[in-house]
Amino acid sequence: MFVDSHAHLEMPQFDADRDAMLARAYEAGVETVVAIGSGTGPGSLDCAIQLANREKTGEPRIFATVGIHPHEAKLATDADFGELSALARNPKVIAWGEIGLDYFYDHSPREVQRAVFLKQLELAHAAKLPVVIHCRPSADSQNAWDECLGILAQQWASSGLGGVLHCFTGLMEQARRALDLGFMISFAGNVTFPKAQNIRDAAREVPLDRIFIETDSPFLAPVPHRGKRNEPAFVPGVARSIGELRGIVAEEVGIQTAQNVRRFFRLPPASNAEPPIPAPSRGVAG
Ligand SMILES: [Zn+2]
Ligand SMILES: [Zn+2]
Repeated sequence: MFVDSHAHLEMPQFDADRDAMLARAYEAGVETVVAIGSGTGPGSLDCAIQLANREKTGEPRIFATVGIHPHEAKLATDADFGELSALARNPKVIAWGEIGLDYFYDHSPREVQRAVFLKQLELAHAAKLPVVIHCRPSADSQNAWDECLGILAQQWASSGLGGVLHCFTGLMEQARRALDLGFMISFAGNVTFPKAQNIRDAAREVPLDRIFIETDSPFLAPVPHRGKRNEPAFVPGVARSIGELRGIVAEEVGIQTAQNVRRFFRLPPASNAEPPIPAPSRGVAG
């Protein structure tokens, strides 16, 4: 009944026990994981598709994204953009991302981040895919939020494709602006961090039918696992935290946010839900 809407399953932290890690997630009630495909940038842009394609039998439980993270924006070439557009046609790919602006780490120059973000919005529009947005401002600043939401309002909202603000860390005001642009808001384990009152405020206020939950594995393990490796089996903990804030049980948060992901990305229903609708294009891949 839970969907982890954002996990980096290909990362080396999972090399030793990837299958067991996924089995633990399914055991914990996680029905679907969105594998984020930004990898380590050019050279690994198909990493999430490869993981999704490892499933040979049964209902697909892993879906993929493609995109270049703002950290690696400085590495992006025209050849990479061409590769991304080709990969985006793979039936396992449900979104373009994660893309956006990161002015906290500034691993790429800001003007390069902006240019690569704009370029990928253009490509995602052509591919008719929603976007997964990563946005992190400088410390004690709203700079990246103002720019990112401005770009989305001017360059993206009219596409009607929408997207998700992943690992939301902003203020309710910014969540509201994104909701007005048709975006979903995804909350991660940092909702439990002591200093994150602004995230808890937003997690209480954003309408439940506009929320996703995610782990951002292997990063951002929630309390009490903080500081250790995160994994999709912990996403029910995010549901529990949001449920506590809203006075509802974790299962209700899980079921509603799982429905939100399926509706938003037009995924086939989970195998344990209603009678399965045949989805030939999402079937077994080679
Ligand atoms: Zn991110
Ligand atoms: Zn991520």
